[in-house]
Amino acid sequence: MIGKTKKIEDIKTLTKYLPSVRYTDPDYVYISVTNARCATGEVYVKAGDKVLLGQVIGLRHGPFFEQPIHSTVSGEVEGIVKKFHRSGKLVDFIKIKNDKLDTYCDTIHERTEEEIKALTREDFTKIVKDCALVGLGGSSFPTYIKFQTKDPIDTIIINGIECEPYVTSDYRLMMEYPDRIMRGIGYALQAFDAKKAIIAVKEKHQDIYEVLSAVAKRYPQLNIEVARVGNFYPQGWEIAMIKSATGIQIPSGVLPAKYGIMNFNVSTIVGLYKAVRYNMPVVKRNFTLTGDGIKFPQNFRVRVGTSIQELIEKCNGYSDDSDKIFILGGPMMGASLVRDDAVISKTVTSVIVMNHKNWVEEPCVRCGSCVLSCPVGLKPVQIMNAYKAKDTDALKGMNIKRCIECGLCTYSCTSKIPVTEFVRKAKKMV
Ligand code: SF4
Ligand code: SF4
Repeated sequence: MIGKTKKIEDIKTLTKYLPSVRYTDPDYVYISVTNARCATGEVYVKAGDKVLLGQVIGLRHGPFFEQPIHSTVSGEVEGIVKKFHRSGKLVDFIKIKNDKLDTYCDTIHERTEEEIKALTREDFTKIVKDCALVGLGGSSFPTYIKFQTKDPIDTIIINGIECEPYVTSDYRLMMEYPDRIMRGIGYALQAFDAKKAIIAVKEKHQDIYEVLSAVAKRYPQLNIEVARVGNFYPQGWEIAMIKSATGIQIPSGVLPAKYGIMNFNVSTIVGLYKAVRYNMPVVKRNFTLTGDGIKFPQNFRVRVGTSIQELIEKCNGYSDDSDKIFILGGPMMGASLVRDDAVISKTVTSVIVMNHKNWVEEPCVRCGSCVLSCPVGLKPVQIMNAYKAKDTDALKGMNIKRCIECGLCTYSCTSKIPVTEFVRKAKKMV
């Protein structure tokens, strides 16, 4: 594990020290009608309609919530096209020609400090709901639902750990926008009437620790601590992060709010800042494009809805003509595609472009590596075998819901079996 951890950090240095390139004016943006959490959606605009930045152009329907769809540019709707979403599925996208004027919808306005100080929890909840803020670290979970907790919250924890190999978009966000992070934390402290906030970063990121600690001192009215936590994967998993940052062990299946803790990813807290301060939905984000398949790996500040093909061109294209694999999100938990016809949604942290290697999958040798590596104590090999046998009765007794889809069972498999994929499918089956 120590050897693997070091290798993971070396991979991050491909982009870690590269300041984000601003690429916020693509000719077109593509906004998905559905996503991984919302299976259906409706579109309020048609080809030829003029739209404004921040305008609601549709509505997604989730299992127990609805989510407005916002235009991330001002311009003209060209119609509906098919592209790959972060979920790995080909779905409908609204194609909008960017007029590059950034004309705001009248819902976007700056709130004064006095107006913000007067906001109640209900006001904050409505703001994040209207702005369709979700977990921007990749979870996509609607933030307003977290704001509806009835549990008293004592501590806000900000996840700045960014466990995934290769990915450095949160790292750059913390280095480049620390003030926005502090202000977002201030709003979260106010909304939950919490006493303190902890920003969790990996111990080895001394530079982030120093930057955030220095900037936190500019906000003496906020009780913000920066905590250095372990360098292992999956330290970013909320249970592991909370244990390292506070010493509190949250039992599996229990919400952290029951222990007075509310946690947000660092990108989400910046999204909260923009939503509260400007009533602005997420129209831009930090993003990493890296891997051995492209010439110049890079960090970007991009417009949500930008085509990945366009950004690959900005990285001087592919490293060679060989076949590529595209991973949306990190290599441990992301979705892989065989085509680059995908788009940056607000929850896509990164795309890893890998030269295709013909990994030869071999039969399971019952080595037990996947069992030893599972952080929640599951037996992935047994889950995989039960799934292959379509033995749902056996699967029901295997606690599959506890799987956090960390990818470690695949990573550790000596036979190169995509064990995590089988566990994901088994979860769906159950
Ligand atoms: S992905 Fe594999 S290792 Fe990770 S929690 Fe799920 S079963 Fe365990
Ligand atoms: S790590 Fe791979 S080879 Fe080993 S028991 Fe698990 S599935 Fe089988």
